[in-house]
Amino acid sequence: MAKDVWEEALNQFNRGAKILKLDESIVELLTNPKRIFQVSIPVRMDNGKIKVFQGFRVQFNDFRGPTKGGIRYHPNVDIHEVKALSFWMTWKNAVVDVPFGGGKGGIICNPKELSQGELERLSRGYIEGMHKYIGSEKDIPAPDMYTNPQIMAWMVDEYHRIEGHNVFGMITGKPLELGGSEGRMQATAQGGVYVLEEALKTYNVTNPTIAVQGFGNVGMIAAKLLAAKGFKIVAVSDSKEGIYNKEGLDIATVSKHKSETKSVKDFPESTAITNEELLELDVEVLVPAALEGVITKKNVDNIKAKFILELANGPVSAEAREVLFKKEQIAIPDILANSGGVAVSYFEWVQNNIGYAWDEKEVLEKLKAKMSLAFDNVYETSKEFNIDFGTAAYIYAIRKMVKVLELRGYIK
Ligand code: NAD
Repeated sequence: MAKDVWEEALNQFNRGAKILKLDESIVELLTNPKRIFQVSIPVRMDNGKIKVFQGFRVQFNDFRGPTKGGIRYHPNVDIHEVKALSFWMTWKNAVVDVPFGGGKGGIICNPKELSQGELERLSRGYIEGMHKYIGSEKDIPAPDMYTNPQIMAWMVDEYHRIEGHNVFGMITGKPLELGGSEGRMQATAQGGVYVLEEALKTYNVTNPTIAVQGFGNVGMIAAKLLAAKGFKIVAVSDSKEGIYNKEGLDIATVSKHKSETKSVKDFPESTAITNEELLELDVEVLVPAALEGVITKKNVDNIKAKFILELANGPVSAEAREVLFKKEQIAIPDILANSGGVAVSYFEWVQNNIGYAWDEKEVLEKLKAKMSLAFDNVYETSKEFNIDFGTAAYIYAIRKMVKVLELRGYIK
């Protein structure tokens, strides 16, 4: 499965590279990771015994700046997945125009089965194993699935302990009290909403109906922000089930239900639907915000939404994006739609470097400007090549990379 994710990432890139007639040697340069690290992390468990966990970090490409990307804690983490995610980060950082290369990390573990103490020792162990290779000007991690500001706080503290002084800019997604940024928690969802607003304006769509798959950090906040705009959210889902109400769901009450029962399932005033049914609803906007690979050639013909806002990483295959484009449906690709998270991570790093904190208003204004510009650039590229937004985003990012490679002397 994870190997498929890497194949899919490569496929997306190759479509753009082919259109640009990129030289084979440059394709080779850009599709091989610069460094791959694997560390064994011995952790003393609460029962007194030592358990050894495996941690990874891939620094895929640092031509545009220090590598940057989150750390994922999940039982299914493996090197292919981390490689694919670090490759995506390379292009995402170029699309949203932050001066970073692509990196990503992960630990094979089930965080739901670890106590807080075990989680802390594991997180500190990861930094102990990796500290020589990461840092504010080398490689800057952040949270990803099942990692959070508390884990970033333990990591920045461990780095502090080893180096003997504070280096807040070595990691982002930290708590506000430890050099975090205002606006970081909602940044991914908020960035996606800004992009969607640009798309709706461009295509003259007002008051869209919306379905959101995934009701976690990204999906729930996106649903709240979209509902606050007055848009009708007719369906949401999580790993257990989907819920539907054609008159619109009250998202604040659904959130309360989710925090009380751990699921959106059995929410009153709704009918149960499967995750597959949710994807095929007749809505204007579909927001996949959970998993990769949910829209592929297998179900693309059943997708009715005019816009697919890819807040998850890799939810729509390159092939499906192309089919949608031919049907005049627009898949706004992950490397554009969810890049608000890394944009605000960049703002956090800048604030750490200059030793000054901006208020939320300032951060969100800067985010909005970045997302609008990224949307315009991808939209214009899509028009220039008459191509789907996914391939257009790669073309835009690859051109930017080529310019850097020329300046660095790799392309004569
Ligand atoms: P999360 O763990 O907070 O939430 C994931 C949600 O997906 C949960 O509601 C879960 O119940 C649901 N889910 C899991 N399996 C499902 C299934 N089979 N069908 C339907 N729903 C299912 O994670 P998150 O941080 O919200 O991340 C979601 C996606 O967004 C991931 O692809 C992640 O890589 C991507 N992403 C997150 C960020 C960020 O800042 N958190 C940034 C960029 C991209």
